[in-house]
Amino acid sequence: MVLTKEQLNHYKRHIIIPEIGQEGQKKLLDSTVFVYCENTDSLRPLAYYLAALGTGRIFCDLKDRRGADSLFAEVIDLNNDTAIDYLHENNYAKDFSEIHDIEKNRPQNSYRIVLGNLNFIKRLAAKLLNDEFIPTIISVNSQWKGTLQTFQNEEMFKNLIDSLNAENTENSSAFLANALSSTLCAIECVKLCLNIGNIKKDMLFFDLFNMEFNQTESNANLFKFLDEDNSMDIKHILADAKVLIVGTGGLGSPAAYGLTMAGVGNLGLLDFDKVEESNLNRQVLHSFSRIGMSKSKSAEFLLKKINPNINIETYITELTKNNAEKMFSKYDVVIAAVDNIPTRYLINDTCFILNKPYAEAGVLRFDGTATTIIPHEGHCYRCLYPNVNSSNLSVDNGVLGPVPGVMGFIQAAEAIKILSGFGKKLKNKILLFDSLEMDFNIIDIDRNPQCPTCGK
Ligand SMILES: [Zn+2]
Repeated sequence: MVLTKEQLNHYKRHIIIPEIGQEGQKKLLDSTVFVYCENTDSLRPLAYYLAALGTGRIFCDLKDRRGADSLFAEVIDLNNDTAIDYLHENNYAKDFSEIHDIEKNRPQNSYRIVLGNLNFIKRLAAKLLNDEFIPTIISVNSQWKGTLQTFQNEEMFKNLIDSLNAENTENSSAFLANALSSTLCAIECVKLCLNIGNIKKDMLFFDLFNMEFNQTESNANLFKFLDEDNSMDIKHILADAKVLIVGTGGLGSPAAYGLTMAGVGNLGLLDFDKVEESNLNRQVLHSFSRIGMSKSKSAEFLLKKINPNINIETYITELTKNNAEKMFSKYDVVIAAVDNIPTRYLINDTCFILNKPYAEAGVLRFDGTATTIIPHEGHCYRCLYPNVNSSNLSVDNGVLGPVPGVMGFIQAAEAIKILSGFGKKLKNKILLFDSLEMDFNIIDIDRNPQCPTCGK
């Protein structure tokens, strides 16, 4: 297989990364992923990120197929290199007649992703054990919490399935934990396919409510962990909330999508750029059919399709000193989803003047950072980076598609905690994410008394 000129442009943010390159992109385009999800809502973020990466074939085992045909159409519009279909009765768009009994005769370079709440995964257990073993990623979710474990060995996989069956605990999943898990599963899938990074045997436990991430060898605490989750009724708070997202690209796409699914009633989407082919390896709210459209309008189009009741205001303009205060003052929270330092400084300084909390994130290759800034209470962006040369932080260095997905969903979780007043935020903290190690590190930081914005 030789990549076409269009594909070289489409995947250039991957190809520029030495660990991926053209050979890696070809392997991804040649891979097959079997996905097991409860319904279309839980499949959607995973299908978007797998397709954006350039996964060749996605077979979906869905308990509830309502809305799936429409999702499949969106996925193919996001990346027509990807074929997506039901695992049984492959009949959606492409002819898979060359594949017989695919669960017993897996194609080379195939992986399995199982994503859902405990009950869903327990019900699948017998079937999963019965099929031929291939590398498998399992993520169990509840409201704000989730786990992730990757199995390259059948013995360990059986142990987990057996331990799930031994317990009677039930739980239900919610959108944000599912979305974060989706991006983490997609990353693990790339690492398996390209044989890069460190696939740990440990189970990752994450808790978006308390912002805690731990990896342990034992999964013995799984039930207790998921059982003690915080589920609160904050729908009425979110319905009235107003969030401005500055940038609707790699970070803004998942942030806006996460807030839409969580029930935030009013979004502002600010972006001056138009959709380009090379955005589509990670900016999952856009698509081939919307290349050339303003990114704010393209994002609005898809979000309105997902939730027709959401109010969206689009701003097709550059953020400047002259318009920032007027726009920001209409919103409760700002999400900084931008790719350059001067705009970050402008967002920081405007939020400080208006006393407006905001969620900040950045990505580079396999890594991401996130922090939450509550002016006058905690640190600000300039406390961290008083004076940065932006040249080595540019997206031109490439980024693995689902990495901004991870960070954007974390920003959405932070915004929801700011709006509701619940949970522990990344105030006076910075989260560092290393996807090759699947490591989340949270570091305490202090306000800088010499800070040009918030210092004395
Ligand atoms: Zn400061």
